[in-house]
Amino acid sequence: MQRKEDCIFCQIVAGEAPASCVYEDEHTVAFADRYPASPGHILVIPKEHYRDITTLPDHLAGRVMQTTVRVARAVDEALEPEGINLVQSNREAARQSVMHFHMHIIPRYLHWQDDDDISIGWRALDAQREELNRCVREVICQIK
Ligand SMILES: [Zn+2]
Repeated sequence: MQRKEDCIFCQIVAGEAPASCVYEDEHTVAFADRYPASPGHILVIPKEHYRDITTLPDHLAGRVMQTTVRVARAVDEALEPEGINLVQSNREAARQSVMHFHMHIIPRYLHWQDDDDISIGWRALDAQREELNRCVREVICQIK
């Protein structure tokens, strides 16, 4: 298992850092994003450390996408969003703070008139989003 000692996502995989996990299988894990500006986000990661999408081996790319689809389906059923963004960014210039490949699953609603930067522009104190975060933590356990 490829691991980077100071990587928070590797620590989550090892059970050494807390996370609200919603799905786990042999190769991947999905958990609620704890970044305060990212309410409602779920992150999907491979259990092994890969810096970004350019280093991800093919067999794990397929596994990550399969998990992303399963979790997105559960988000759709549980939260009934009007849209879902799947976002993936790479390295510092793409404004990533954790250099462990990850997919964002982001439920979206038409009445949220956000700025265009969905990754960092959300108002963290929006009550509906706090509710959405709570739902993500508590509801999404029935992933098929
Ligand atoms: Zn890592």
